[in-house]
Amino acid sequence: MPESTSPPLARAALDRDGEARGVDGFAERFDADPASRVIVLHRGRALLAERVEGSAPRLQFLEPPRAPGSTLRCYLGRTIAATAPVASADEAAADVSTASSDDLPPGTPIELRVLDDAAAARLEPEDARWANLRTAAPVLGDRDAGLFTEALALANWHSAAPFCPRCGSTTTVVQAGWARRCDREGNLLFPRTDPAVIVLVTDDEDRVLLGSNALWEQNRFSLLAGFVEPGESLESAVIREVGEEAGLRVDRVEYRGSQPWPLPASLMLGFTARVADGTTPSTAMPDGVEILALRWFSRDELAAATQEVALPGGTSIARWLLERWYGGPVPESRPWTAT
Ligand SMILES: [Zn+2]
Repeated sequence: MPESTSPPLARAALDRDGEARGVDGFAERFDADPASRVIVLHRGRALLAERVEGSAPRLQFLEPPRAPGSTLRCYLGRTIAATAPVASADEAAADVSTASSDDLPPGTPIELRVLDDAAAARLEPEDARWANLRTAAPVLGDRDAGLFTEALALANWHSAAPFCPRCGSTTTVVQAGWARRCDREGNLLFPRTDPAVIVLVTDDEDRVLLGSNALWEQNRFSLLAGFVEPGESLESAVIREVGEEAGLRVDRVEYRGSQPWPLPASLMLGFTARVADGTTPSTAMPDGVEILALRWFSRDELAAATQEVALPGGTSIARWLLERWYGGPVPESRPWTAT
């Protein structure tokens, strides 16, 4: 596949407009601007617009007076002029990547409001209109997929950061939702992102190594992955994770791309690596704790196994890396949904 394709959640079409976050009276100005629009989240799900026949799925954009009040408001940025569609790893996304780009004029300021149960039920009681990121992202256009990803990442951080980690005091949201200030010490706390590496390991015959995680259903296979430890480089994390989970020595570690994975707060950094010279691929041994089974697949073997093996979902960077190795969409595999 062409180098230009992005992982599905790395798609974005927005000016984050960071300068505006620190402007005094920003919230009041936002509310007074008739061009402003609000998207809403409730328990990690976004409100989608009602489907009109023939239209692509899109987020619901509300005028500020129509958007319920919320304890959490975050300014996400301004829309930009639609550009040529960016090809996506996911065919469905590629089909609609520009479909929602022309309904808001460029420069439209967008804010996130997080709703409680009562406000969400008042605004839209129909459950089907609320969608989670994993199912919505592949069918949303670039702008809306990016907005949802940004909004969810911010909302998740706020829900986990009500208190100062240093002194335990309450904190107050500042900078239009991009920081919190400790109410006692006055220091600023910024949203955090946890880096994780995910690695497509191949051998000299260009077979791919897939592992089955202990937490997953049987026969569900994906790439090896793990969090980067403090004081560790990304490349070292790749080599360590493959060593721990598969007992294999790898080298030729190469970075391929990244995407946010705000479930709840990760940034997935995708790599490829090769089994090191002098290491026999068949000695791959699952650690028995995190990884229960390991299998090598040639392209033909993977295509033949798709009825028996569940592969990572279309929103994941694992699928994106796998399809780049495979050379295109992997034939229909068993559906793999939620974790
Ligand atoms: Zn503090």
